[in-house]
Amino acid sequence: MGKDGHWVPAVIEDVELTYSFEPHKAKKLKGQSWLYCTHCGLLYLRNPITKWCIKMGCNNSYHKQYKFMLKKLTK
Ligand SMILES: [Zn+2]
Repeated sequence: MGKDGHWVPAVIEDVELTYSFEPHKAKKLKGQSWLYCTHCGLLYLRNPITKWCIKMGCNNSYHKQYKFMLKKLTK
């Protein structure tokens, strides 16, 4: 979590990674309004980059468009 409450993705090393779709395992936290994924830790926030990450599954950071989307959607 970032200091302003936004989900901050882990820093990915600049290596060739293969993306394969892995559905999130969303779970509701007690007393929290957000769902979160027990597999990758993604918080289901209502912002464009999170929506993209939800759609792409747990391995979204391996996707070749990840950096591009991150730049585009977090402006
Ligand atoms: Zn996940």
